[in-house]
Amino acid sequence: MILHTKLLLIILDGVPWRNWRRLFGNLEGWVQSGEARVWKMRAVLPSTSACCYASIHTGVTPQMHGILSNEVRFRVSQPDVFSEVTKAGGKTGAVTHSYWSEFFNRHPFDLVNDIEYDEPGGPITHGRFHTMTGYGHDNQMTPSDVDLFATLTMLAERHGIDYGILHTCTLDSMGHRFGHDCGEMDHALAVMDAMLAAFLPRWLDNGYEVMVTADHGQTDRGHHGGHDDEMQDFALYYFGKGKGPAADTLLDQLQLAPTVLARLGVPVPPTMKAKPFLS
Ligand SMILES: [Zn+2]
Repeated sequence: MILHTKLLLIILDGVPWRNWRRLFGNLEGWVQSGEARVWKMRAVLPSTSACCYASIHTGVTPQMHGILSNEVRFRVSQPDVFSEVTKAGGKTGAVTHSYWSEFFNRHPFDLVNDIEYDEPGGPITHGRFHTMTGYGHDNQMTPSDVDLFATLTMLAERHGIDYGILHTCTLDSMGHRFGHDCGEMDHALAVMDAMLAAFLPRWLDNGYEVMVTADHGQTDRGHHGGHDDEMQDFALYYFGKGKGPAADTLLDQLQLAPTVLARLGVPVPPTMKAKPFLS
C-alpha cells in the first residue's frame, strides 16, 4: 500500500507555550514567512511524561491506557500510530527514550537487544533508543540532540521510513534543573532551535511533512504533571499541505494520533475518537 504522504513527528519534552513562541526564532520565522503554522495544544492529565507519550500515540486518555505515572509501565493494549502504519504497509522509525519501545513494542526494555533494532514486521520497523539511566538533577544523561536529529535523518534516507518520531528530554531535564525563566534555559532553547533548523529543510526536501511539538509544558519552577496552563499547554508547529483550523484554536493532545494517521492516509482505529485537526 502506498501512503498519502510521509511524516516526521518531533517531540521536544517539557517546553511551555510561552517559551516556544518567545525563543524558537527559526520555527517562528517559518511561521512568519508562511511555511509553517502554529497552534496551542493542551496535554492530557496527568501532564506527566509517560502518560503523555502513551496518549500522543494511542489517542486515548491515561485513564484508558493505564499509564498513570513514569514508574508503572507496560505494553499498552490500544492500537497506536506505529501499529496502524505498519498494518497499512508502511515503515516506521523511532529515535526516542526507551519508554516508547516499552509502550508500543515490548516491555521490559532489554538494554542490549532493544537499544537498536530493525524488525520488518513492526510495529516499530527501525528503533534507535536511549534510556537516560542514572538521570538526576545534576546529571542529565541525555544524548546530544544533533546526534538524535542525525539518526532520524539516517532512518529517513537509508531506510525510507514513512513515519518517524524523534523524542528528546534535553529541555525537560534543563527545566527540572533550572526552571523555565533563566539564562540557562534561554540558551538551551536557542541551541535546540538552531540544531533543529539545520535538519528541517532537508526533511522537507526529502518529501516529509513535519510536526514539532512537546509532550507537556513546564512551570518557571521546573514542574509539570498537574492541571495548570503552564504545565499543560505547548505549541504545535506544522509543515505540510494539510488544511488546519483558525490560529486561535486550542488543540487537544488526543487529536494528534488520528491527525497523523489521517495525513498518512492510514485508517483511524475506532479507539481514537478525537477529530483530526488537519484535512
Ligand atoms: Zn515529559
